[in-house]
Amino acid sequence: MMSNERQVDLLVLGGGAAGMTAALTAAVLGLDVLLVEKTERVGGTSARSAGSLWVPNSRHSPPGSDSPDNALRYLRAVLGNRLDETRARAFLDAAPEMVAFLEDNSALALRAYAHHPDYRATLEGATLSGRVLEPVPFDASVLTNDFAKLRPPLPEFMLLGGMMVDRPDITHLLNARRSFSSLRYSLGLLARYGADRLRFDRGARLVMGNALVARLYYSLLRRRVPILVSTQALSLTQSEGRVTGALLQSGAGRIAVRTRAGVVLATGGFSHNLEMRRRLLPAGVSRHSPSGRPCRYAAAVTARSPSFLTSCSIAASRASSPSPRADTALFPKPWTITGLPRPCWQRSRTPQASRVFSSATMRSWPNTGSAWCDPAVSICAKRLPTVT
Ligand SMILES: Cc1cc2nc3c(=O)[nH]c(=O)nc-3n(C[C@H](O)[C@H](O)[C@H](O)COP(=O)(O)OP(=O)(O)OC[C@H]3O[C@@H](n4cnc5c(N)ncnc54)[C@H](O)[C@@H]3O)c2cc1C
Repeated sequence: MMSNERQVDLLVLGGGAAGMTAALTAAVLGLDVLLVEKTERVGGTSARSAGSLWVPNSRHSPPGSDSPDNALRYLRAVLGNRLDETRARAFLDAAPEMVAFLEDNSALALRAYAHHPDYRATLEGATLSGRVLEPVPFDASVLTNDFAKLRPPLPEFMLLGGMMVDRPDITHLLNARRSFSSLRYSLGLLARYGADRLRFDRGARLVMGNALVARLYYSLLRRRVPILVSTQALSLTQSEGRVTGALLQSGAGRIAVRTRAGVVLATGGFSHNLEMRRRLLPAGVSRHSPSGRPCRYAAAVTARSPSFLTSCSIAASRASSPSPRADTALFPKPWTITGLPRPCWQRSRTPQASRVFSSATMRSWPNTGSAWCDPAVSICAKRLPTVT
């Protein structure tokens, strides 16, 4: 097989949010960088996610509302003796800097949710808002033909077969018959979507994880960072104990990349690899992950699973959980829960539910006996058990 050679400063493997962030940072710092993505589209799992970033004390937190010590107290309360304090402090120092760096040097734009409690909202150091950031909606029409190279979100995150909506949008859509401003807002969304469909095969107003990766992708294109899609890293090359590059496989053959500065591995998790899950994850975790089939997002999973939040792991096969039970969380089609009298987002107006916005909060909201859901990510839970 023909083998091409290439030399760069930095090789980044994986075109999700992590890989694109690494490539973008390297490009901003003046490195000659190459981004490599296995599939035909960039975005990875990140494109399908809610795109919420947990970054305490960023420039978007209300001034004086939080502190690194307070955030560390929260992590200590959550993690107990499993907390690696050095690593946690490094994260708490660097994450706000990362937000500022990327917003100042790229098209990334974030904002704090008005209400988004920490997952374990009753623990010491927890806050009800300010730490969780969401991507500002992005107009992907600026990507023109490259829009097709961006991985779409889950179908469940889109209305009318292609219109993404976030929490404020959903509020307006639900209130359109009661409020003139919501009606106007909703008609604006629909008109915008109609116009987009004349040019693209889905709406170009992106929110959540899709806005995050679109903003990163757009920034990479603007900086002319080369991106190889449909190209898979096969192995790393080493010399004298150092990683010196990687061997890639594309449709056109193999490419041997030599690197001056290094290789960033950002190829995502291994939720789909049963053997690695068994070998590397704690006992019990692998039980709820899919196996032998492509990643399936829309399936039932018991809320007891400690792997509930890992990407593919939330999609345990229906076979392992044939019918929803009272302690079963459904993702991402909550309205299929038998016994719910109406779409569960309407239930989110209960006082308990209005305080709860994220899927992980399910774990910290045990024994309430009530259902709640996050309309933006369509997660709904019913009488959840305590997860230890
Ligand atoms: C529905 C859903 C909602 C979520 N919501 C949130 C949230 O709100 N907040 C949050 O923090 N997390 C959330 N997550 C989890 C989050 O999406 C992931 O943790 C995150 O996207 C991982 O990013 P990544 O860049 O590491 O990996 P990915 O985005 O998966 O990117 C990895 C990329 O590497 C590529 N790749 C794999 N192997 C190779 C190879 N050999 N060579 C080249 N390329 C390769 C893959 O094709 C993929 O494009 C959610 C997940 C899901 C499924």
